[in-house]
Amino acid sequence: MISLSIGGQLRRIITGIAFNRYKEAFDRAGYAIMLIDNRTNRFIRVNKAAAELFGYTRAEFRKLTPLDLSTEPEEVKRKTKEQAEDPVVKPARTKDGKIIIIKVQTTYSDRFHVSLISDVTEEYRIRRTLELNEERLREAQRIGRFGWWEYRPETDRYLGSEELSGIFNDEVASFSMTYQEHLGYIHPEDRSYVHSTIMDAMEKKKETFLVNYRIITPTGKVKAIVVNSNIKYDEKGRLLYRYGTCQDITDTRRIMDDLIAARRQAEESDRLKTTFLANFSHEIRTPLNAMLGFMNILTSMSTTEEEKQEMVKLIDINSQRLLRLINDMIDMSRIESNNMEIKYTNVEINEFISSMGSAFAYEKEAAGKKHLKLTPVIARSQKAVYQSVDELRLSQIFSNLVGNAIKFTDEGEIRYGYRIVPSGDGYTLTYFVSDTGPGIPTENLDDIFQPFVQYWSEDMPKVQGAGLGLAICKRLSELMKGRIWIESLPGRGSSFLFTFNTPVIVE
Ligand code: ADP
Repeated sequence: MISLSIGGQLRRIITGIAFNRYKEAFDRAGYAIMLIDNRTNRFIRVNKAAAELFGYTRAEFRKLTPLDLSTEPEEVKRKTKEQAEDPVVKPARTKDGKIIIIKVQTTYSDRFHVSLISDVTEEYRIRRTLELNEERLREAQRIGRFGWWEYRPETDRYLGSEELSGIFNDEVASFSMTYQEHLGYIHPEDRSYVHSTIMDAMEKKKETFLVNYRIITPTGKVKAIVVNSNIKYDEKGRLLYRYGTCQDITDTRRIMDDLIAARRQAEESDRLKTTFLANFSHEIRTPLNAMLGFMNILTSMSTTEEEKQEMVKLIDINSQRLLRLINDMIDMSRIESNNMEIKYTNVEINEFISSMGSAFAYEKEAAGKKHLKLTPVIARSQKAVYQSVDELRLSQIFSNLVGNAIKFTDEGEIRYGYRIVPSGDGYTLTYFVSDTGPGIPTENLDDIFQPFVQYWSEDMPKVQGAGLGLAICKRLSELMKGRIWIESLPGRGSSFLFTFNTPVIVE
C-alpha cells in the first residue's frame, strides 16, 4: 500500500512537473497556439504569442470564438476525429482591425482541437509582389511582343520565355531550339547575314550587338524581328553564354514601310503635278495664242478668201485641241472624285467600230499624216456581236488610243478593233489599237498609265499632250469591270489591249 501510495504521489509529482513543462513550453513557444473546445467552439487556452499576434488579452480570448478572428462571415465546420489537417494560409483580423495573413495547422481530438498559427504576412506580401511582378513582366512581354532568350554553347540550345515561342511558333509554350534549328526559321534572304553577324560579334569579342531580320513561322507567317544580344566570355575569351531580348516588330515595320511608301507617293505626285502644271499652261497657251493670231489675220483687209478658209480650219483644229484638254481635265477630276457615271447598253460592236472610221481619218489628215494606213479590224463581220458597255466611254477610250497612235506614228499602219475568243459558256472580246510607231521601253511600261506621266525618247516627235489620256483609259476600263494593258518594244510599235468583264452576245 505504502509503496503504492508513494508510487501515486510520485506519479502526481512527475505529472505535475510534465504539466508545468508543457505549460511553459506552451507559453514560450515562438508561434501562436490555440486550444479550442469542439462543443462550444470557444478558446480554452491561448499562448502568449497568440495573444500578441491578435492583440487580445488572454482574458478577452475566453469570450471569443475563432469566428471573431476570421475575415470570413462563417467558419467552416471542423471534423472532430483525431487527425491533423494540411496547413491553410488565410487572412485573419486582429483586435485593432488589421488584416494579417496566417498559416494555420490544426490537429483534432475528441474534445478539443489545437491550432498552431504563424504570421506569414510579410512572406505572403513578398511572394505576392514577386508574382505580380512576374505577371506584369509577362503582360509587358505580351503587349510589347518581346521575349527573352539565353544560348549556352555546351548544350547548343536557345532557351526562352513563352512569348518568344509566341513569336517563333505562333503559340505560347516553352521555348527551346538548337542553333541550327534557329537558322532554319530565318528567311532565306537574311540567313547568311544573321549567321555572319553573330560569328563576327563573337570573333571581335563584342559584348553587345543588335540584329534585325525576318523569320518564317511553321504556319508560313513572315515576321520582322529585332534581336538584342549580350555576350559573356570567360577569362580566356571563350564564349560562356549569350542572352538578350527579341521583339516582333512586324506591325511597326509595316507602318513604317507604309509611311515611306506614302511619302514617296506624295513626293511623286507632287513632282508629277509640278510637271503637269508647267505642261498644262503651255498646252493651254499654245492653241489660244494660235487662235488669237489667226483671228487677227482673218480680220485684216488684205487676207484672201483662200487664206481665210485655211485660217478658219486652223482655228477649228486649235479649239478642238483646247476643248479636248479641258474635257480630259474634267473627266479626270470626275473619275478621281467618283463622280463618273457608267451607263450600260448593249452596243453592236461591228457597227460601232465602223462608225469611228471617218472621225479617225479626219484626225489623221488634220495631223498631216494622210499617208498612214488606218485599218478597222472586225472579228465576226457576218454576225452581230453585242457587248454591254457605256458606248460614249468606249469611244472615248478608242479615240484616246487612236489619237496617240496617230500622234506618235510617222510611218506604217494603225489597226484598231477587237478579237473574239470563246470562254466558258460565252465569249470574251479583246479590243486593241496597235501602231508601227516608236514603241515604249519596257522600264516605262508600268508608269505609262499613271496621270501626268509622259515619256519621250530622242527619236520621238515632241507632240502635245498633258499625260492624261492613258490614265483616263485605264480608269474607264476599270469602271466598266475591265482592264487595259500594253505590249510594246522600242522601234517595233505599240499595242494597247483592253477587255470588259460584261456580257457578250453573238447572234
Ligand atoms: P498624252 O496626252 O501626253 O499623250 P497619254 O496619257 O495619252 O498622254 O500618254 C502618255 C505617254 O505615253 C505619252 O506621252 C507617250 O510618252 C506614251 N505613249 C502613249 N501612246 C503611245 C504610242 N502609241 N506610242 C508611243 N508612245 C506612246
